[in-house]
Amino acid sequence: MTTIQAEAERKAKERVYQRAYREDHREQLKTYRKAWHERNRERQLALMKVWRGANRERKSASDKAWSEANSERKRANDKAWREANPERAQANRKAWVLANPEKRKAIANAWTARNREQHKAAGKAWKDAHPERCKENGRAWRLANPEKTRATAERHRARKLNARGASYTTAEMIKGRCEVWGNRCYICGGPMEAVDHVIPLAKGGTHWPANLRPICTSCNSRKGAKWPIEEV
Ligand SMILES: [Zn+2]
Repeated sequence: MTTIQAEAERKAKERVYQRAYREDHREQLKTYRKAWHERNRERQLALMKVWRGANRERKSASDKAWSEANSERKRANDKAWREANPERAQANRKAWVLANPEKRKAIANAWTARNREQHKAAGKAWKDAHPERCKENGRAWRLANPEKTRATAERHRARKLNARGASYTTAEMIKGRCEVWGNRCYICGGPMEAVDHVIPLAKGGTHWPANLRPICTSCNSRKGAKWPIEEV
């Protein structure tokens, strides 16, 4: 046996021994390693920082490669970090949302589309659990959106009576129609308070914009479902 062969054999034996030793003392070695890192924490961190500063490109490339190869672990690590640093995580999230409003919207829309049923169920569950707040929200929305509210109410009434145009006429169209009349009652010229079906729905009038005009409450109650209008 040559010296080189003997040396190779010795090294191979040494490796086998080392591996067996590591396997037999796994826990103990782990403890040592941990203790060493704790003792040298500051130094290690400083060294790593210097290395990262000098190898920025390599560091980000290797981070990226690692993330791609370990997407599950990456996600778990990120999640653990967020849970350990809730405030910083929230600040990061906020900053990202501010910097990427379009992406944020796209993600939210995609989520809703993917989870339509779940989204609906969550909404319903919330409503069932908070009937009072739900009512309050509805009231506030109606106060803030009087035109849409009126249009919806009129549409429901028109649908009930099977009026033509009921599913066609939008709040926007009704608004345009009232603007034609200067948003004033078409009978007395007072401030507009409601939308009238000139030919009443009860008399077969339609819900097409052509049959809609702004009206005040008092003219509206006097007119009621009378037709022709000369009777008012
Ligand atoms: Zn009037």
